[in-house]
Amino acid sequence: MTATSMEQIVSLCKRRGFVFQGSEIYGGLKGTYDFGPLGIELKKNIRNAWWRAMVYERDDVEGLECAHLSHPLVWKYSGHEAGFFDLLQDCKKCKARLRADHLVDGKCPNCGSTDLTEPRPFMLMMKTPIGPVDDGTSFAYLRPETAQGTYTHFKDVLDSTSRKLPFGIAQDGKSFRNEITPRNFLFRQREFEQAELQYFVKPGTDEQWWETWKNVRMEWWKAQGIPAEKLRFHLHEKLAHYAKMACDIEYEFPWGFDEIEGIHDRQDFDLGSHTKNQEEFDIQAKVMKNTDSTTKLGYLDIEEKRSYIPFVVETAMGVDRAFVVLMMQAYTEETLPNGETRIVLKLKKHLAPVKAAVIPLKRNNPQIVALAHQIKNDLLKTGVGRIMLEDSGNVGKAYRRHDEIGTPICITVDFESIEQSPATVTLRDRDTMQQERIAVDQLPEYLKKFFL
Ligand code: ATP
Repeated sequence: MTATSMEQIVSLCKRRGFVFQGSEIYGGLKGTYDFGPLGIELKKNIRNAWWRAMVYERDDVEGLECAHLSHPLVWKYSGHEAGFFDLLQDCKKCKARLRADHLVDGKCPNCGSTDLTEPRPFMLMMKTPIGPVDDGTSFAYLRPETAQGTYTHFKDVLDSTSRKLPFGIAQDGKSFRNEITPRNFLFRQREFEQAELQYFVKPGTDEQWWETWKNVRMEWWKAQGIPAEKLRFHLHEKLAHYAKMACDIEYEFPWGFDEIEGIHDRQDFDLGSHTKNQEEFDIQAKVMKNTDSTTKLGYLDIEEKRSYIPFVVETAMGVDRAFVVLMMQAYTEETLPNGETRIVLKLKKHLAPVKAAVIPLKRNNPQIVALAHQIKNDLLKTGVGRIMLEDSGNVGKAYRRHDEIGTPICITVDFESIEQSPATVTLRDRDTMQQERIAVDQLPEYLKKFFL
């Protein structure tokens, strides 16, 4: 089998209702995508797999969800206002706008010209007016990462949960960046989703935790079905303004290895900066607060009898990049004995958008349809996820559709089902296409065992 191309994934996503271009009927809005009926299920399952591994299965992580809009000072003192930019170059020949660090041999990727403008900084943060009057002075930034909200609420989470170091705060949600060149489908968008963990540790233990988290996160990707040979670490030499050490997890895309997650040692850069600047802000605003001046976003270490600002190790995954990677990896074309091509999305079962499809063989037979409804409702109670009643009336077509969208199990209700006692149905496995007969009253247990 040849490697999956991005075109195959884009086409499947549109055809089967995973992803659509944003604002498509008006020509599209570059760098934005909308998720369709199956896309939202897959995205939710990716998010849940991450949350389960990062919060539920651990005893040292809490969750948080912050607003997308935040005060300009958050981004001033985080260093983003001054330092969160890419270098932009224009091609003088074809007028393309280019990201300087993406050029190969200094050439325009569109027309090959080397006649480019000098690189100049291009701010990645998006601004929006806020309040009833747009006079240019009242604005907020759309967050370019979820992390800053986590830092500004570090004390709130610490105080309300009585955590001890080391502990983490997980946050998943939208981020916005005015990317110069959105491209490669969901890979680089202007509005995207991140799943980030900020793990707060004692200063001096950060390097060791950075190593630990690199490995934990690499194992997570493998557990989602990505083979080890398609993944690698890439150590950064050029660092973001906040990082002491940075390493990406990369996946082998059709265009080569590229980033899907970053693991950064941010030391006390962010908590330290917010602490220092918040104090100045309080003095200017004449706010009197009863706080320990050196540890506003700090931690009181009872054992060591001192306060300090914790260091932070961050893991930052792109949920949309995970979406693309999982689709690419799962997409399979098989040649059947009759020469036909079968497209199967071999997603791991916990990620499958639809867990089981219940197919009535005849959609105009009330007894068959009623039993199919009853099975669907009973299976829904198992809590394994979405169970779909698939009453297109053509079993062959239904199998093809559910293979393509990755449904692990199809359950067909036929004449035998309503004639026999106890009632039985045909259960078909997505990957092997093997079919077996199973009693209807055993289905819930079967599904629970299969999925949970
Ligand atoms: P890149 O170098 O590709 O621009 P980055 O190093 O700026 O990415 P981070 O700030 O480390 O990215 O963000 C963490 C993760 O968020 C990335 O690994 C990626 O999966 C995701 N991400 C970042 N920018 C985008 C984007 N424009 N579209 C989709 N996902 C993104």
